[in-house]
Amino acid sequence: MKSQQIVLTSRPTGAPTSSNFKMKFTEIGPIDDGEFLVKNSWMSVDPYMRGRMKSADSYVPAFQIDEPLEGGCIGEVIESRNKDFSKGDTVLGSLGWREYWKSNGDGVTPIDPNLAPIQAFLGVLGMTGLTAWVGLNRIASLQSGSTVFVSAASGAVGSIVVQLAKAKDCRVIGSAGKAEKIEWLKQKTGIDKVINYKETSDLVGELAENAPDGIDVYFDNVGGDHLEAALDVINDFGCCVECGMISTYNATEPIPAPRNLFQVIGKRIRMQGFIVRDHLDAKDEFVREMTKLIKADKVVWKESITEGLENAPAAFIGLFDGDNLGKQLVRIS
Ligand code: NDP
Repeated sequence: MKSQQIVLTSRPTGAPTSSNFKMKFTEIGPIDDGEFLVKNSWMSVDPYMRGRMKSADSYVPAFQIDEPLEGGCIGEVIESRNKDFSKGDTVLGSLGWREYWKSNGDGVTPIDPNLAPIQAFLGVLGMTGLTAWVGLNRIASLQSGSTVFVSAASGAVGSIVVQLAKAKDCRVIGSAGKAEKIEWLKQKTGIDKVINYKETSDLVGELAENAPDGIDVYFDNVGGDHLEAALDVINDFGCCVECGMISTYNATEPIPAPRNLFQVIGKRIRMQGFIVRDHLDAKDEFVREMTKLIKADKVVWKESITEGLENAPAAFIGLFDGDNLGKQLVRIS
């Protein structure tokens, strides 16, 4: 059978553009014993994919030119010769950016469609939700009553960080780049203050004004000027959770360090990066806790949905323009 897939045709220089991607047909042969065939329904686009478009491997291997891209996806098993997966099962896999894929089951997780809308397993109950949970619980060891600053606060990870911290009775300050996002955060998440970083020339001043007693935890999704501001305003013995630095992903020159990095010493700051994949052992505890919070209306989520596999590159590119509110998804079928 024929399957459409999106391949990387060239490595982006600076911001990715549609010319870096192309839709291609491929032939999928019959499944062998032990295999099953999945039709994708949803796929995720994530900022980390930009790193995989560079030629050098980092903590994940680089995407190859003229090969299909990969990433989180949810689909339905439509044919199976594997005893653990039956026709009609909903599964979570890592072969997004295509219509169909075959598998022997390695790295594929069955999803319970009765627990939540299936695409939630790419967001609030999936990788991005787990990232928020791990960053706050395992990296920051967040204590009730702390003041937390989170950048990209209306995004997939950020919006969950805000609500998990509020559920722990923390004071939460966020940053976002659009009025619509700020309104959503204020209406839906219980956030205490939001800074529109695109409308200020003094991020440090705004942060200090909104956090008169300083901040205890900075959950960094952005890096650059946001990290620098956080280092200035963070309290002694504060913690910077280094989750992501999206402001640097399209840089064509080496990134200057925060000019005030010495604050790490002066203030005895703990700064720790993490990769969510190292914490998959936390998945069950995370899903248990998150489903409870969702049922108690303490966590809500938002999805930005792009229709059609052919529009997946645009959805990905939009992450860097701030097009998405909440989790950016692509509906494939
Ligand atoms: P988001 O849903 O937050 O989407 C990206 C958002 O980032 C945009 O909507 C935009 O919002 C903001 N943004 C884009 N460019 C800039 C910029 N130059 N300066 C400031 N803000 C910018 O994505 P995710 O929630 O999926 O990811 C958030 C971060 O977490 C990323 O850095 C990602 O790499 C990281 N991450 C790390 C993981 C880990 O294991 N360490 C796992 C998953 C994600 P706005 O309108 O507010 O500008």
